[in-house]
Amino acid sequence: MKTVDLTNEKVVTLTDVEAAVKGGATELLIGETAILTPSAREAVELRRIAVRSGSGTAPAGSGPLEPLFTCAEAQAAKEEICAVGRKLWMRQYVDGNGGNISYRIGPNEVICTPTLTSKYDLTPQDMCMVDLTGKQLAGGRPRTSEILMHLEIYKAVPQAKAVVHCHPPHATAYAITGRVPPNCVIPEYEVFIGKVALSPYETPGTQKFAETVIPFVKTHNTVLLANHGIVCWGDTVTHAEWYAEVVDTYCWTLMLAAQLGSPISHISEENALDLLAIKKKLGLPDPRHDAAECDTCEIPAPGTIAIPPKVRGPAAIASGSITREEVEEMVRTITAQVLARISS
Ligand SMILES: [Zn+2]
Repeated sequence: MKTVDLTNEKVVTLTDVEAAVKGGATELLIGETAILTPSAREAVELRRIAVRSGSGTAPAGSGPLEPLFTCAEAQAAKEEICAVGRKLWMRQYVDGNGGNISYRIGPNEVICTPTLTSKYDLTPQDMCMVDLTGKQLAGGRPRTSEILMHLEIYKAVPQAKAVVHCHPPHATAYAITGRVPPNCVIPEYEVFIGKVALSPYETPGTQKFAETVIPFVKTHNTVLLANHGIVCWGDTVTHAEWYAEVVDTYCWTLMLAAQLGSPISHISEENALDLLAIKKKLGLPDPRHDAAECDTCEIPAPGTIAIPPKVRGPAAIASGSITREEVEEMVRTITAQVLARISS
């Protein structure tokens, strides 16, 4: 990274930016009260140059955490995040600036993608580093607002090294209908994902949203986010992206099979337990590893492509597994019974 010091300029113009670029700048240091002209700002964004405001001339790299942010492991992680970003975009799992990717580089430090950037266009220079509270520690661009969800996963699951969040259409179709796909249909899905969870809807980017995944992530590496998308965690960024591919392809295949009109055949419970054993050996999480009773397959009625999630209360209404009318009916029945008891 090469920093060019422009702290003497009260107004930074396009000419200043172009001169800095000619000199090989990857970061501009500007005065705390300095302003960039619109054309200068445009040039900075176009050329993906980091802009840092400060009064000193200390180069980026002098902070106590800079060695961590620029170490070999960090550089490799940044490259891997960019490659995975392009995979997500090419597979149409992210649209616009959607999706975000992170990697835990230290016990309290996480490298992540910046906000408002297409995952196709990522470069290693775009990356940010935050602590587990979401405070940005390094990087010239503001971090993704969705990092809070990634951080809840890192805090809840010590073995999670990487998190990928995206909006793959087929898995998201399940998420918007409040349904989870059935199990025991395709071996790869059983081994790499198994059971997905469905977390309730909250406004993206908020702490409340981030916390919706906490109850699930210890025993699930993939969670469907209601009315939103999916989140996957893994031991590497690449593996977390694999899980997104596996779950989306699975959902897609189930939809295609449903169009054939014949019931989906299932793997036997015995064979499913073999797959679960392979999964345990690989160290992949699954709520069925420690299930008190065996519900390995939960085979749905023939012809269905999904099983309703086990949700109760308002989330059940929101997910469509129980209608408002059914709730009303239940309330009516119970009230009538209670009134009958009281009057007798
Ligand atoms: Zn999202």
